[in-house]
Amino acid sequence: MEDLLNKAYEEGTKVAASGNVASYIPELEKGNPEDVGFVLMDLKGNYKARGQYLKSFTLQSITKVITLLLALEDIGEEEVFKHVHMEPTGDPFNSIMSFEVKNPEKPFNPMINAGAMVVTSLIRGEGKKEKIERILKFTSLLTGNKETHYDRTVYESEKATGNRNRSLAYFMKSTGIMKGDPEEILDLYFMQCSILGTCKDIATIGAVLAANGIHPVTGERVIRKENARIVKTIMTTCGMYDASGEFAVSCGVPAKSGVGGGILGAVPGRYGIGTFGPALDAKGNSIAGIRMMEYLSRKLELSIFQIG
Ligand code: GLU
Repeated sequence: MEDLLNKAYEEGTKVAASGNVASYIPELEKGNPEDVGFVLMDLKGNYKARGQYLKSFTLQSITKVITLLLALEDIGEEEVFKHVHMEPTGDPFNSIMSFEVKNPEKPFNPMINAGAMVVTSLIRGEGKKEKIERILKFTSLLTGNKETHYDRTVYESEKATGNRNRSLAYFMKSTGIMKGDPEEILDLYFMQCSILGTCKDIATIGAVLAANGIHPVTGERVIRKENARIVKTIMTTCGMYDASGEFAVSCGVPAKSGVGGGILGAVPGRYGIGTFGPALDAKGNSIAGIRMMEYLSRKLELSIFQIG
């Protein structure tokens, strides 16, 4: 096992510098493409790690998993999916055109920006202060990391430059999909994207999902079994941007990536995985992360489509 993990890490470092860190959020440009790390955690919380696994990065779109779980826990499946579909798009995560032309009634799924903003707007709480506190507390419950907070500089950078998200929010306001004040929801969304975490944190969330809602460290149920199932399914079909189909074939692990360079993986009944590598491919997925996940999947036979 140790050799296999060394090899997985080596595979990641080999390709890490071949992409670019995200630059459309200026603050993310400061990421070091040579940083690579991962954690493989079993369902009892035992873990193996390599590289920069304790380095914090902004979770970005990985938080879409967290807010979807929280909304499902808050108001239930039926109510959540009145506001957002569960269909993959094949379009970039922040696409405006496809949304307006193909399906203006509600966003395609909770993993694209439009869908994630709607989901965030459904979370319970009086105003954005209470809502962000609930999101942070829930993140902390899932990761077990009591220090959970968001990065102010990244948040301000997103807020200053997030005009595409702003246009999506206002478009949804104009069609009536988005209830409430778009500025408040945008602000909350930018805060949520800037939440910091490590490979260990996201591997722990992966382990919670892999164990159908039981926390690997405390052994307590932290989310409902059916919500873990729903979210793992949507991660499989929509979690890796418009490369979700390809990733399902090459790796076969329910996963969600973010432009901060993280990938959260949940191998049902077996492991939570967290990888980090800020250099991204053209679709927005971590190059090192994908390579390591694929390697681990092949060697440990993790694909959910290969069981039996
Ligand atoms: N804050 C980013 C945005 O909305 C998140 C993107 C991502 O990680 O996919 O553009």
